[in-house]
Amino acid sequence: MSEIQNEIQRRRTFAIISHPDAGKTTLTEKLLLYGGALRLAGSVKSRKSKQHAVSDWMELEKQRGISVTSSVLQFDYQGHKINILDTPGHQDFSEDTYRTLMAADSAVMLIDAAKGVEEQTKKLFHVCRQRGIPIFTFINKMDRHGKEPLDLLDELEKVLNIKSYPMNWPIGRGRDFKGIYERSTSKIELFSGNGHGATVVATKTGDLSDPAIVGAMDQSTYQLLKDDLELLDLAGDEFDLAMVARGELTPVFFGSALTNFGVEAFLHSFIKMAPAPHEKNSSVGIIQPEQQEFSGFVFKIQANMDPSHRDRLAFVRICSGVFNRGMMVKHVPTGKVIRLSQSKQFMAQDASTIDEAYPGDIIGIFDPGIFRIGDTLTEKSNFTYEAIPKFSPELFARVHLRDAMKRKQFVKGIEQLTNEGAVQRFRYPDIGLESPVFGAVGILQFEVLEYRLTHEYGVDISIEHLPYTMARWAMGENLTARSLKSMDNLVLLDDDDYFVVLFRNQWAFNWEAERHPEVTYLEHPPIR
Ligand code: GDP
Repeated sequence: MSEIQNEIQRRRTFAIISHPDAGKTTLTEKLLLYGGALRLAGSVKSRKSKQHAVSDWMELEKQRGISVTSSVLQFDYQGHKINILDTPGHQDFSEDTYRTLMAADSAVMLIDAAKGVEEQTKKLFHVCRQRGIPIFTFINKMDRHGKEPLDLLDELEKVLNIKSYPMNWPIGRGRDFKGIYERSTSKIELFSGNGHGATVVATKTGDLSDPAIVGAMDQSTYQLLKDDLELLDLAGDEFDLAMVARGELTPVFFGSALTNFGVEAFLHSFIKMAPAPHEKNSSVGIIQPEQQEFSGFVFKIQANMDPSHRDRLAFVRICSGVFNRGMMVKHVPTGKVIRLSQSKQFMAQDASTIDEAYPGDIIGIFDPGIFRIGDTLTEKSNFTYEAIPKFSPELFARVHLRDAMKRKQFVKGIEQLTNEGAVQRFRYPDIGLESPVFGAVGILQFEVLEYRLTHEYGVDISIEHLPYTMARWAMGENLTARSLKSMDNLVLLDDDDYFVVLFRNQWAFNWEAERHPEVTYLEHPPIR
């Protein structure tokens, strides 16, 4: 195998999806602990405590105790290079999570054993399903009283419509959660240690015929395990790696991120089953990761992570070739050639400069102000990777600048925030960018907009919320703002000069659509 193939094969790039509070921060930290990237778990915890998690960069996140942006962490484990793409848990930033999932090769779906499949889990699951990426399930908080494991599997099937295969099975529940039974090897792993989770947990392994192992469980725990296993063998789905690869079957693991129980067993199996970076579709067909030419796409832009430097990082998922520090790359949409001299990679605790990176890796490169979400970078070719679709906004606000003297900063600020995909920007056809209208999926996006315009660009704004709930992109011959206008809609233009019509509700939209058979109304903006 060539060096590049070898590097590709050992990489695993994934995102963790979950409902807030299921334990994503805790699990991420424990994965780092097992990867040796952290000596003592708890040292980068918790948003809710005084110390802040590695992934929480922005001041706003600290104030709110929520994760607004996603970060990337890389660590080594048993010869593998693991890239974890962190995603914001709050639903108002689901578009950001969606973009991050575009850069992942698989997903870990984290479920709270007491709560089962929650709202946000469902939404994110559907995104993964659409992308057809493999989904691995970790059922967390087994150290607490929760739903029965069999009921949880049933819930996966009923609520998410996915088949599941438990890779391991919990021994005991809640405070008596003592270990796991690994189905492929029939081995039992019993946990020992204080269960405080600060260090790697010690385990004792053996099988069901081992008296020392069986002796460590009480009779009822042993009986429950035997009954469950029999039932699983009889009634469960078959394991099929090809179905896992297509996202049709999810391998399920039980554990407790807090006490570290089951974390290593999960990581160990996950790296074996999760896919390495593979080929990607582009405007000129399939691009293989091992092809010589470097290429990648921007899936996230993040500004001012360090307030002392006014820098802006574009996060690029490498899709093919080798990245070398200082190399020249072409920004395909503008044709500009730029030198990547200051690329960063994100290790457990801080960003460090990197010299070399491979497909599957994420690099942070300084954005000279030209990048937009979805842009392709190559060495010389002109192809583009599939565009990252935008969400259809459901909330709208008009933003007014209070101090006209700050107009220049205001324009610069909204330009940048739009390029980052923090909000979508629209303008009135007649008055240009004077008091632009912004569209968002969640209300917190407007708060981020206001906060960042104030803190990063020094402009004072007022936000006027508008009474619309739907945006439709109007397509057709010879459309004009006047022909689209009605009593109670609002006709705007997007950055690509498409007409966008805002409606108060579904009823208003239906009425309008009937009146205009010559217009096709699209739910999402046409992909540029
Ligand atoms: P996130 O919002 O998904 O990132 O969740 P956090 O990792 O911040 O965890 C939310 C809460 O659940 C915190 O108080 C954690 O200490 C707790 N937690 C996480 N994992 C476990 C677990 O395995 N068992 C128990 N009992 N609590 C957990």
